[in-house]
Formats: sequence, C-alpha cells, structure tokens
Amino acid sequence: MAVTTRDGWALDVIEATLAYFVPRDRSPLADWRDRVAFYARRLVAFHTRELTGQSELRTTVAAEPVRSALAAEELRLGDPTFTFMQTIGEVERTLAFARTRVGFPILIVLSDINWRELDDFWRVRATDAGPIFDGIIAGHHHVPGSPSGGSCATYVPARGVGLALVSADGWRVPYRGSDCVVYHEGIGHAIGLPHPEAADGSVMSHAQYRGELRDSWLAGADKRALGWTPASPPNIAELRVRVEPPVPRPGESIALHCTWPAGARIASGTVAWQCELHGPWTTRPLATGVLPLVLALPAFAAPTPVSYRIAAQLEGGPALDAWGYFQVRIAPDIAPLPGEVSAGEPVAGDVVTVIATRRAGTSDLVVERPGFALTAPGAWFEVDRPTAVAWIVDGAGVRVLCDGRSVEQPRAANGPAPAPDHFVLEELRATSSIERERMKNPAMLART
Ligand SMILES: [Zn+2]
Repeated sequence: MAVTTRDGWALDVIEATLAYFVPRDRSPLADWRDRVAFYARRLVAFHTRELTGQSELRTTVAAEPVRSALAAEELRLGDPTFTFMQTIGEVERTLAFARTRVGFPILIVLSDINWRELDDFWRVRATDAGPIFDGIIAGHHHVPGSPSGGSCATYVPARGVGLALVSADGWRVPYRGSDCVVYHEGIGHAIGLPHPEAADGSVMSHAQYRGELRDSWLAGADKRALGWTPASPPNIAELRVRVEPPVPRPGESIALHCTWPAGARIASGTVAWQCELHGPWTTRPLATGVLPLVLALPAFAAPTPVSYRIAAQLEGGPALDAWGYFQVRIAPDIAPLPGEVSAGEPVAGDVVTVIATRRAGTSDLVVERPGFALTAPGAWFEVDRPTAVAWIVDGAGVRVLCDGRSVEQPRAANGPAPAPDHFVLEELRATSSIERERMKNPAMLART
C-alpha cells in the first residue's frame, strides 16, 4: 500500500521547496540560510520518524531570497488571505514552481513579514499607547503565535501540489514549537491534512503550544488515511536543552542544561547567542572529548530577548543542534521593550528610569528594577494609564516623577542619605490597569 493524499496523489516522495520571501522595503536576514536549513532538518527528521520512511521528504532551499516587487504595506492591502495569495503567486512565478515534478511538490514560503506589523524578536507591536508585548508564553516558554501573524496553507487537489505561507512570527525567531508551525502549514495542510476535531498535542492540533516538533506526532487516523502501514519508528539521536532560570533577571547568570545521547563525545561544537535579530552572534567553542551538561551564558546587564544555538558534531556520530529563545526580564511578567535604556546601579545625582506595573489581582503599583522593589498601597497620586516613573537621587532626598508630577521623600534630618538600594516609597497606588512603557526622556518631566 502506498502513501498518497486522500484523492490519490502519490506521497512516496515529497519535494518541498523552501523559499525566503522578502518585501521590497525589507533587508534579508544575514543568516537566513541557516534559519531555513534548521527547519528543513527538523521537518525531515519528524516526517521520517512519523511515516517510517514510507514517505520520503526531500527539501530544497531556494538559492536566493525571493525579493518581492511590492513593499510590506502593499502586500497587506487586504486581509490575511490577500497577503497569502499575493505572496504565494509571486513566489510561484519567480521560481517556476512545479513546472516539472518528481515527487509531490510543495512550496513553503517563509515570509519576512506578518499580516500586521510585528517585531517578532522582541515580540511587541506598536499601539497608540506605545509598544506592547504580543506573543504567547506557555509555562515560561515562548511559543509561536500572534494575531498579527497570518500563516496559511492549502492543498490543491486539481494540480496535485501544496502551497504554504509561514508568516515571520512562525519561523524567523525560533521559539519552542516554531518547527511545529512550519510542519503544520508546510507539510500537514499542504498534503491535505485537517485539524483534528478534538484538540490534542498532535502536529495538526496544539503541538506548537506544548513542545517542540519532536515532542509531537501525526495522528494515527491521519496516517492511516494516507495509507501508511504501521511500523516502528527509527531511533533519532537528539540534544535537548533547558534554560535555567527560565526567565533570568538582568545580572543573573544563565545555564543551558544539556541532555545528550548516552555515551556520546563531542568532536567539535559551538554555543552562540544574539540579542538583536539583525545583530551579530557571539560564538564560543565547546570543549571537545567531553559532554558538557551545563553551558554557561554570560549574565545580561539589561532586559533583552536572547536567541541561542548549540551545535555539536559527535565523535563517530551525528551532528546535533538545539536552538531556542528566552527573554531576560526584570520580573517574569514584564516584557522588555526595544530601545529601553538600562541604568547601572544609581548613585546620587542620577536620574533612574524605573518600571511600573500593576501586580496581578491587587491595586498595588509595583515599581521594579534590578536591586529595587517599591511596593506600597495607599493614596499617592492617581495613575490611570500606561506610564513611566522616574526618580532622582540627590543630597536632599529622593524625588519621584510621574506624569509630570513629582513627590519628594526628603532626607531625614541628621539621617543618612537615601540609600539607593532600598527606597521604599509609601502610598503608591494604581487606580486602573497599569502597563509600563519606556520613559522617553526623564529630563522632560516637570518638577513641581
Ligand atoms: Zn492549521
């Protein structure tokens, strides 16, 4: 029995073409080939395991990015379906997709943009009230998904092809489960697989929120519908990584706990990280001949997103890799924002921007930064919209500035100067939902 689509197109060989699509007004990622190849490897490993070789997935990465004739906003002149049709049509024409065929052709377009503007490295989108976090976190893990995304795929039975668009939020920055999105759209829907009626952890359901692609599966009913004959999956060597702590604070050391195949030894390898999507990677070699169970990353001085990659060639064995993403945060529920200024430890005379948020379930406004925590109930002055708080330390005491108003906590007579590491301001209250935003220019706040 052969593996086929539901209406008989042979799937014994699937030829997936992965193309990186870049609007006219965008710059391609410098390492786009590495990123696309990472997904190609993950898809092949999963497909081979799940269909036990009865369907072979071959991948080809288009040699150059497909540069659109249109700018990002022109590709977004309609709904997400418009963006999908426009993008797929352009890439199909450019690559002469499926003019000749060997296996079942699938076009997987990995787009540089989303349906709506979204910074997928910081995971924020712009609003009238300033940038806000727009991502999904499951148990401290960043997982893919955003209403601004717009991934979409279709199986075209009349032509015997699959067409998939993975929007930027689904792949550019690999979060835990991004490879699930690329398989779900790029292979699953493209060969005609539906969503299951009852949600589960399978790849055509909620896999992207629960783990990596290798933690997921193709539903038995789907495999039987494709004509797959039950067989034992091959053993696949893998590297797993856990970030500890999962949400590091600025200044906190970070450990990548690694689980390697038993008995393996490293012939060569690297650990690398970046804090800007278009910025450089910092790369360190791995010690050879041993298996590092913990790889240390440096402490990051300021809140920031971090992408990391571990790559290792094992002695006499396979090449393994693990890619991931986390955010250094001043508190687990306070997302870093691009352009945020980080202050070192304050001294007298400094103007220090601090971050305000409302503690869940209370009316307390909590102001936090590394080494500082201000929590106080009561009436200070009303804060009723997203805002920023600053304080100024000088010989007279501490002056707190917010919304153009200020409150002073004078230095007690004959008392010590305010110690910059434990200010406790009393009677600070939030009257409505408080979010935080970067204070653009503390010096502009009026002194009253
Ligand atoms: Zn779907």
